Amino acid sequence: MLSKAATLGDAEVAGAIVGAGIASLAQEAGRHGASKVWIADDPALDSPLPQPRVDVLARIVRDGGYDTVLFAASVLAADVAAGLAARLEAGLNWDLVDLSLVDGRLVGTRPALGDSVYVDVGWKGGPQIALIRSGTFEPVATGGEAEVVQSPVELEDFSTKATMLERAHAEQAGPSIEDAEIIVAGGRGLGGPENFALVEDLAKALGGAVAATRAVVDAGWYPYSAQVGQTGKNVSPKLYVACGISGAIQHKVGMQSSNTIVAINKDPNAPIFEFSDLGVVGDLHQVVPKLAELVRARKGA
Ligand SMILES: Cc1cc2nc3c(=O)[nH]c(=O)nc-3n(C[C@H](O)[C@H](O)[C@H](O)COP(=O)(O)OP(=O)(O)OC[C@H]3O[C@@H](n4cnc5c(N)ncnc54)[C@H](O)[C@@H]3O)c2cc1C
Repeated sequence: MLSKAATLGDAEVAGAIVGAGIASLAQEAGRHGASKVWIADDPALDSPLPQPRVDVLARIVRDGGYDTVLFAASVLAADVAAGLAARLEAGLNWDLVDLSLVDGRLVGTRPALGDSVYVDVGWKGGPQIALIRSGTFEPVATGGEAEVVQSPVELEDFSTKATMLERAHAEQAGPSIEDAEIIVAGGRGLGGPENFALVEDLAKALGGAVAATRAVVDAGWYPYSAQVGQTGKNVSPKLYVACGISGAIQHKVGMQSSNTIVAINKDPNAPIFEFSDLGVVGDLHQVVPKLAELVRARKGA
């Protein structure tokens, strides 16, 4: 978000880092485009609860006189953005996939009608709050250094009413799909959950992460955390290998910004070939193991 914000006109770009034990991230924000970083580092902000963060951010926006607040989407960020919009009586545009300045005004791009069209959205007044699909922008290191400002943490009584009772994490092996540079994704063409082993093996050979389509997640073949697409995650790896995936628009919107897309599908008319850089028409049960074998041979392992 910082990298993108830094490309939008000449306005000051500030980062806000809110949490517990997070102060060391300030320099990282400076390196990615923030000229100032507000730090709110307090044990009261340890749990991922929205209202304490709304208190802190509302104050930062007021103290700093900011006219725009950008969030990368997550469950927590969506809660915080909505709370902040209510607190500041501000407009919130969500699910954006781009931002630009048109005649000096901020314009957001938002997919609509099942992601089949893009619409331009704006704000009637300020502050302008935006929630952007995660993984939309590339982080760009600008090498700058930020001025660090400590923000006081003063919470409203009502903001401390909710407490986190328990946190549990799904166990996951290997890199997460949001961070992975290489993703091997499986679809219904695998034929059954047991055949995800083929996808996992190719991902292991390439050093990548495993993703899935909604069809196979809904069928219980793979966990939801791996779903790419409109109702899953947005990813933009260097390489996306789609195995047995038809390329429905709802899947495409989550992976189309990948640098190189390779599709393996037995149907030469599958829509995925329309936006792949390289297509293999064939049975994935033969192609995928062979590919994993070739990758391993090339890597000399
Ligand atoms: C509101 C809404 C939201 C949605 N959100 C998402 C989302 O977030 N993510 C998502 O992925 N989908 C989403 N969908 C579903 C989407 O429309 C598709 O149904 C889904 O992406 C299809 O998954 P698939 O490609 O695995 O299966 P299919 O469309 O069934 O495609 C399977 C492909 O495998 C090929 N195949 C079959 N056997 C083999 C073989 N042996 N070798 C090689 N190829 C083979 C077939 O030719 C076919 O192209 C959403 C739908 C709706 C309505």
